[in-house]
Parts: sequence; C-alpha cells; structure tokens
Amino acid sequence: MNRKAIFPGSFDPFTIGHHDIVMRGLEIFDEIIIGIGRNSTKQATFSLEERLEAIQRVFEHEPRVRTVLYSGLTVDFAADCGAQFILRGVRSVQDFEYERSMAEANKQLSGIETVLLYTRPEYAHISSTLVRDLHLHNKDIQPYLPTTK
Ligand code: ADP
Repeated sequence: MNRKAIFPGSFDPFTIGHHDIVMRGLEIFDEIIIGIGRNSTKQATFSLEERLEAIQRVFEHEPRVRTVLYSGLTVDFAADCGAQFILRGVRSVQDFEYERSMAEANKQLSGIETVLLYTRPEYAHISSTLVRDLHLHNKDIQPYLPTTK
C-alpha cells in the first residue's frame, strides 16, 4: 500500500519545527503532501505565494514531498489527494486538546486517521507566531527557518 499523508497548516512561516515533523513523517509515509490552507481566518504575514515557494525550495530534492495550496475542508483536500492520513505535530497540552478535537471531527466526517508526532523538545517553543513577531520587530528569523539545499 502506498501510504500517503497530507500535512495541512498555515505555515506562516514554515519553521524548523514543521520541517522536523515532515522529515520524521517520511519514515512512516511513502508520500507527504504539504497543504497550505487558504481559507484560514488568520491574518497572514507572509503571502501564500511566498510560503508556497519557500516550502517548495526546502523540499526541492525530496521527490516524496509535494507542496500545494488548498481551500475548503481538510478532509476534502485529503480525499482529493487520495491520502489516507493527516499528519500533525503536538508541542503542548494546548496543542493536544486542539488536535484531538480536530482529529475526532475529521474521523467522523470522513473516516480519515490523524497521526500525531510529538515535537522534539528543543523545538517545543518554536511557533510561526514567535517567528512572525521576531520578523515584525526586525530580528533575524533565519535560525528558525529550514535551510534550503
Ligand atoms: P494551523 O494553523 O493549522 O495550526 P500551523 O502552521 O500553525 O497550522 O501548524 C501546522 C502543524 O504543525 C500543527 O499540527 C502544529 O501543531 C504543528 N507544529 C507547529 N510548530 C511545531 C513545532 N515546533 N514542533 C512540532 N509541531 C509543530
């Protein structure tokens, strides 16, 4: 069986925490489709195109990872991709509660399974929100962004 997962999120921006989840996800899945959600009500700092290009560059040499934009429900996006799994990351109890309710809702909607990976402890404090704040205050955000090969 070709195990395919989507990794949906806002990725505003895509951090080394997200990157680590994808790399570890590749140990479990044959293929991962990173989906940048278009319909988030969150006000974005980085444009969809900037985010798409940045992530595509990171995985340029990884044929098992694709990055696309999507709108609508995550379960519909998964079905369109032919993915059997949703990959997500967990940093904290707050993340856990949120991910649990999303996973339950998605399971009920379409039967899809969510696979959660715990953050590496050294990345537990890294969030897109933190990186956006640093960026807005003209601080160097490179240490939080995955390197492009
Ligand atoms: P969303 O807006 O859907 O929450 P995010 O882009 O904030 O999307 O995050 C996408 C996924 O990555 C979520 O499951 C989130 O918990 C996870 N994630 C974010 N930062 C980290 C990190 N530092 N370590 C592990 N997982 C993370």
